[in-house]
Amino acid sequence: MQDVKIEQVTKYFGEAKGIDRANLHIAKGEFFTLLGPSGCGKTTLLRTLAGFYQQEEGHIYFGDKNVDRVPVHKRNIGMVFQNYAIFPHLTVFENVAYGLKARSIGKADIEKRVMEALEVVELAHLRDRQPSQMSGGQQQRIALARAIVIQPDLLLMDEPLSNLDAKLRLKMRAEIRDLQKRLNITTIYVTHDQEEALAVSDRIAVLEQGVIQQVGKPDEIYLSPVNRFVANFIGTTNFIDAEIGRYDAASRTATMRICDVTVTVPLLRAYEGKAIYSIRPEQLSLSDTAGGSGAEPRIAGTVETVTFLGEKVEISVRLPGGQTVLISERSSAGRNRQLAGGKHVSVRIHPEQSVIFDQHGKEVLK
Ligand code: ATP
Repeated sequence: MQDVKIEQVTKYFGEAKGIDRANLHIAKGEFFTLLGPSGCGKTTLLRTLAGFYQQEEGHIYFGDKNVDRVPVHKRNIGMVFQNYAIFPHLTVFENVAYGLKARSIGKADIEKRVMEALEVVELAHLRDRQPSQMSGGQQQRIALARAIVIQPDLLLMDEPLSNLDAKLRLKMRAEIRDLQKRLNITTIYVTHDQEEALAVSDRIAVLEQGVIQQVGKPDEIYLSPVNRFVANFIGTTNFIDAEIGRYDAASRTATMRICDVTVTVPLLRAYEGKAIYSIRPEQLSLSDTAGGSGAEPRIAGTVETVTFLGEKVEISVRLPGGQTVLISERSSAGRNRQLAGGKHVSVRIHPEQSVIFDQHGKEVLK
């Protein structure tokens, strides 16, 4: 098991940068996820770590060892891919043994280690099966066993669950998480699925166009996004136009106007002008009585749609000036009946829970 340091790593494809000056320190035993939309550079960074790609700039260390020039097969990495890359003509046992045979390990030792790995993924009883006779989840577990049997310093997984149906994906992600914690292997996991990333990771790096935007624990990324891109990519967020006026340096607060309501908010730095008030649907709430500023500022609005989703209800509300916000509430029979399109309500905006960005969404002001 190793920690991994990535220092100023840049990988070019022609003129374009697949990864742009990435810096990361992944701790021993950490479950670390690279998250971002399609084309943001997740796979490029993973492949560079594995040694399939050579970065043009920057350095990679496994523990204290610089691996910039170390070829793939000498990096001692276990890898699991989306398509499993299992050999269909070999049995489960032979698939898992493959990497060990390539390392010229003795037969008895291979037998012992393969069976241990198969025990871990609960496939020992199916050792002589052909993968084609097995389910998607079982095939994914063969791929996992094959990755861990070599006792890797580092486990790399690239969208390992995306070929599984929704239910199996949930089951397998819990299994992968448990296995990783039990074996305590430093793991770097690639996904574009934000919910999956939040569920399995110790920490997450969010990427956009080859650039790491934020690194943090799942709750930090969710509750304290550093810019509009991250706030928008993780979960659902309302971005409400706001105007900041009169910054008070002594108290480090400013007045902020949203629609017809003015509140006082703490700011990280002096700022005046247009801003973006970013707040999650579950951080907004509805009340039936209108009201202005004060401890519980509210904006008058009109219900547009009510969507019943089982345990919660999503209500979209049109604010004065035409912006629409989404509010999520726990559903309850009486409450659901009260809400309908056209109803006048007021939206409690909970400034203490919001994040405020500058007008371009690049910088956090609160
Ligand atoms: P996805 O989730 O769709 O797999 P990703 O985040 O893994 O996307 P990458 O595959 O790392 O993204 O690609 C990052 C960028 O680099 C993209 O713009 C892609 O088009 C480009 N790219 C990736 N591989 C190559 C290549 N071999 N040659 C040229 N450009 C490439």
